[in-house]
Amino acid sequence: MYADVAVCLPLSRTFVYSVSGPIEVGSRVVVPFRKREVEGFVVGLQDAAPKVEALAIKEIIDKTPLLRPEIFKLCRWISEYYVSPLGEVLKGALPPGITAKHVERGAGGADRSSRRSGAEEADPAAPRPSLTFEQSKAFDTITNRHGFHPVLLHGITGSGKTEVYMRAAQHFLAAGKSSLILVPEIGLTPQLTDRFAARFPGQTAILHSSLTKRQRIDEWLRIYNGNAPIVIGTRSAVFAPLVDLGLIVVDEEHETSYKQEEVPRYNARDTAVMRAKVARAVAVLGSATPSMESFRNTETDKYHRVTLTKRVEDRPLPDVQIVNMREEYAAAGKQVIFSRTLLDAITTRLARSQQTMILLNRRGYAAFLLCRHCGFTFQCTACSVALTYHRTIEKLLCHYCGLARRPPVRCPECDSEYIHYVGEGTERLETELKELFPDVRIGRVDRDTMRHMRDFERVLGGFRSGEIDILVGTQMIAKGHDFPRVTLVGVLGADAPLALPDFRAAERTFQLLTQVAGRSGRGEEPGEVVVQSYFPDHYTFQLAVNQKFEDFYARESRYRKAMFYPPFTSLAGIMVTDRDPSRAAQMARDVGEFLDSMRSEAGRILGPAPAPLERLKRVHRHQLLIKSSSRATLHGMLEGLQAYGEERKMGATKIIIDVDPISLL
Ligand code: ADP
Ligand code: ZN
Ligand code: ZN
Repeated sequence: MYADVAVCLPLSRTFVYSVSGPIEVGSRVVVPFRKREVEGFVVGLQDAAPKVEALAIKEIIDKTPLLRPEIFKLCRWISEYYVSPLGEVLKGALPPGITAKHVERGAGGADRSSRRSGAEEADPAAPRPSLTFEQSKAFDTITNRHGFHPVLLHGITGSGKTEVYMRAAQHFLAAGKSSLILVPEIGLTPQLTDRFAARFPGQTAILHSSLTKRQRIDEWLRIYNGNAPIVIGTRSAVFAPLVDLGLIVVDEEHETSYKQEEVPRYNARDTAVMRAKVARAVAVLGSATPSMESFRNTETDKYHRVTLTKRVEDRPLPDVQIVNMREEYAAAGKQVIFSRTLLDAITTRLARSQQTMILLNRRGYAAFLLCRHCGFTFQCTACSVALTYHRTIEKLLCHYCGLARRPPVRCPECDSEYIHYVGEGTERLETELKELFPDVRIGRVDRDTMRHMRDFERVLGGFRSGEIDILVGTQMIAKGHDFPRVTLVGVLGADAPLALPDFRAAERTFQLLTQVAGRSGRGEEPGEVVVQSYFPDHYTFQLAVNQKFEDFYARESRYRKAMFYPPFTSLAGIMVTDRDPSRAAQMARDVGEFLDSMRSEAGRILGPAPAPLERLKRVHRHQLLIKSSSRATLHGMLEGLQAYGEERKMGATKIIIDVDPISLL
């Protein structure tokens, strides 16, 4: 017999090997390949001998395939849709280090986590509030049909989406079906995880990035063996081997962390919908600020839409003010970090023993260093970005490659001493606040202070218990947390993304502002939000302030349609990279010519042009975009390009294909 093998290498085609013993489609094998031995998956079997003589399979790693047929099918879809080599996709669908022996040993039943949560079963069941009218309607839409159907649950923050997810999971559990709940990041949404674990004691498995290899395999086995019918996990949990899947929830479906930015480049949200389709399950995408793509799918009736318009117990939405920072500049005669409005609001909270959160999406002390005499800026030597100044460690850091430099005392260009620190980060905010409010307890949450999950828990715990008065942080604090005593949220630098060459900038800004506003006033006291901006009249701010999602959608749609951007066209990004700048440029031109030769009515090609981040970790990057009104046309061009790249054996030069790209930097 002969097996068609997809090797775990960046190659789109498969290879035929001979086999002597019994083997199944989906089995993992080791095969000789170009003088090496590589891992691969059997993706087909045949009796007929191939035209060229086939080598023999060297070793069968898993006699019984670990990938359920459903997941195998899903991987095929990913491989095709995202133009990603099947062998690599299949490999990514399994936890590292697992083999069929683990399964045969029958492990994965009573491990520590299930024993621990099993003990909780003795506790009285967590209280279940009766659903509001809107929640009941959402629940009905999710549960009253059989088979596959996708639902977009559009509910403002605090409207009770999580409660709807739990009810739906309960419903399917009663019918003997399992549920998969995807979240953007476990650490950032601890409450959702805790609430599920409390509601379904002993039946949940949690898959996240800080598990050890062994823990991951154990959790995987519990799921595989049907001992954990409720699974909560991040992106890669979309491959969790649940038995009899009834429901997939994608919480905060608009989040960019669902997109994997390395091979295979899939979006777990869209993959989740496909998995639901393969499993004939229900897919629920939940968000207060749905992505343009998903909302568009409700307009074209691909997805059902249900809306939760009210906050639970009619808690009011916070009052949002936008402060014009140009006026602040005029009044102070210099650049200021905090507006008078925000400082007054903080002072009021402190007097009332209420809490404040201040959000700025930039870590470090100063964004960059500038010589005032000659204009020299301190750039990374490996990337085309400025170095960020970090004061605690007294270093200039590259946020892309980690390069660290001592900050200079004099300009290396002109030897002047007039080195100016431009643009503030969270570290600077913390310092300034300490000076302004010396007796106040301030906490900071960003990637510099949060080396471990426990740092994060410690600071957030301190904030929750009232040991911290003001919490400063990056977007890490923007979502998911429920702090009832926060009555003020300040947002700084919210307009920074609008300056980026990214067609999603307005959408991102709208989402951030809406999510942040949802953090304020979650308790009894009404909340207030102060947003500082240099472009206060931009429609994004006005619509976010008034929580006008549908108006924003309509407005943004006009721009996307006019510019032929998603969700009104299919988009793919192509990055051509090489360490040698002229080779990168030449290759990009060749790719451009090749694509032009395939171009049809339905496909538009932009570029090649240097990527906005032209150099990253010493690699030069050139970019092309393909926009097409037809998914099939786009797909055909990408497949052609993939074959072209493989044929020309790109060597050091690589062509990276990104279908439905999220970031164009
Ligand atoms: P979302 O996920 O939309 O932000 P949550 O599900 O977290 O909203 O609900 C917000 C708060 O309201 C939570 O504290 C939750 O326990 C509570 N809640 C949700 N549904 C109900 C309900 N039907 N009755 C009373 N409280 C509810
Ligand atoms: Zn200088
Ligand atoms: Zn760098």
